[in-house]
Amino acid sequence: MTTRVGRRPGASLVGLAVALVAAAGCMVGGASEPGGAPAPEQPASSGTPGADATRADGTNSVEEFQQDVADARSIAERYWAAQFRASGQGFQPIRRVIPYRRSGEVTCGGQEIPRNNAVYCTASDYIAYDVNWSFGAFRQIGDAFVFYLLGHEYAHGIQTRLGIRYNFTIQQELQADCMAGAFLGDSVRSGTLRLDDGDLEEFRDGLLAVGDDPDQPWFAEDSHGTAEQRTDAFFRGYEKSLDACDLT
Ligand SMILES: [Zn+2]
Repeated sequence: MTTRVGRRPGASLVGLAVALVAAAGCMVGGASEPGGAPAPEQPASSGTPGADATRADGTNSVEEFQQDVADARSIAERYWAAQFRASGQGFQPIRRVIPYRRSGEVTCGGQEIPRNNAVYCTASDYIAYDVNWSFGAFRQIGDAFVFYLLGHEYAHGIQTRLGIRYNFTIQQELQADCMAGAFLGDSVRSGTLRLDDGDLEEFRDGLLAVGDDPDQPWFAEDSHGTAEQRTDAFFRGYEKSLDACDLT
């Protein structure tokens, strides 16, 4: 995936297993959900992402990771600002995007945010992500992970701005997947982002490989949806834009 500035050749999407795990671990409001999914390979324990690994897709350096986080954030901000403007509403970007390294380093509404997670905190309007965990996923999967992760968490901030609060977590999460899909699909259509050949198929394969355990009750507090539900939600948004996401 490349941004319009064309900083480097597009990296292929190796599979989004961990991206969906990230979403599974995300938190809305006060309740944290570590997710229980296998964590991606962790970079060296120094607390700073290591830059020693090399990926065939070229997405390996700390600098690229940080740049992708910044790009994903600014593209999401511009995207949502334009959506709000088009409907005659003012827009406040999400206040902060905070990297963290230790469990409890960041709190949301008094609750410690655990490692291996990424969250949107409704109480304080920020996105926080475990930088080592996210960087590991970025190296394993590719840069699309960062755009998906930020897109999904940013969507929770938009839900808050729109006053959308479903009764069940799974509804909130599948809508966020749809909105992340719309954000990415629209950004590709507008030329802000570019996918390489085969990326969509790999994206789909990755989405299918993950999701809640089939035995997970849909009404459970940490349910995010089965692989099929999440894939459907994401690609409904990706292909049809926000009209598919029931934002009204
Ligand atoms: Zn979420």
